[in-house]
Amino acid sequence: MNIVLLGPPGAGKGTQAKRLEDKFGLVQLSTGDMLRAAVASGSELGQKARSIMEAGQLVPDELVIALISQRLDQPDAQNGVILDGFPRTTAQAGALDRMLTDKGLKLDYVIEMKVDDALLIDRISGRYTCAKCGEGYHDRNKKPKVAGVCDRCGSREFKRRPDDNANTVRTRLDAYHRQTAPILPYYRAKGVLQSVDGMASIDAVTKALARILSGQPAVAPAAKAAKKAARPKRVAKAARRPAGGGKARRPAKAKPARKARPKAAQKRPAKPRGKKKL
Ligand code: AMP
Repeated sequence: MNIVLLGPPGAGKGTQAKRLEDKFGLVQLSTGDMLRAAVASGSELGQKARSIMEAGQLVPDELVIALISQRLDQPDAQNGVILDGFPRTTAQAGALDRMLTDKGLKLDYVIEMKVDDALLIDRISGRYTCAKCGEGYHDRNKKPKVAGVCDRCGSREFKRRPDDNANTVRTRLDAYHRQTAPILPYYRAKGVLQSVDGMASIDAVTKALARILSGQPAVAPAAKAAKKAARPKRVAKAARRPAGGGKARRPAKAKPARKARPKAAQKRPAKPRGKKKL
């Protein structure tokens, strides 16, 4: 099974991809992680990508397409992958289709994680990770249980991404809306697009994703019913109109007086009634 997680920066794609890796035996392919590794190694690709990434812009299509194509050829990618952060442009989406077809693979699901921009800026500008195991934390929402010690591996070293600051986040969000969101209609038309509420808790999002990957609807029927019950009841149209402002109601037209029908037309033959009970 091959899937794409689509969503703005900070939507939780990386966190969820790691959880789905274990659950479904898939491999997470994050172009962001690959590019950061290239920057850290000082390779030619890293040197080209560094300043673009720090500015929050997108690395040229041909570089990331080549990166993903090579990665998809590795033996561990043959059982299925979760693409996290790729594709990010319509050119990348087209290239992904072609490379999957060439490699005899197919795309099973594209899942959009929907999150409001205001929440994303808060999420991203407070996040950091354990430098050793990569466990994610947040200044306000998810602190380590013991201050300064990673819950998962006990390391005392943490790091922040250089592009996780409020200014760059705005550029990254802008890049998402202008360059990445236009991919959504392409996948909707192909019938592979699903979406989940990325504002829900991490566990709830994992559950919704797992349901989709198991071939069930994203929202459990019970949860759907609860949501419906919580919705405000439908109110009659007249009661919904604001008392003051709002669209004024058109005064009812005075009905013309009914014309008297000719007597003959008024008189209908009496219908035969059922037998009277005695
Ligand atoms: P991410 O970790 O997915 O938020 O990516 C971090 C940065 O890497 C992005 O802001 C881009 O500069 C670059 N990047 C990652 N994936 C891509 C991609 N598919 N296309 C272009 N640039 C990318």
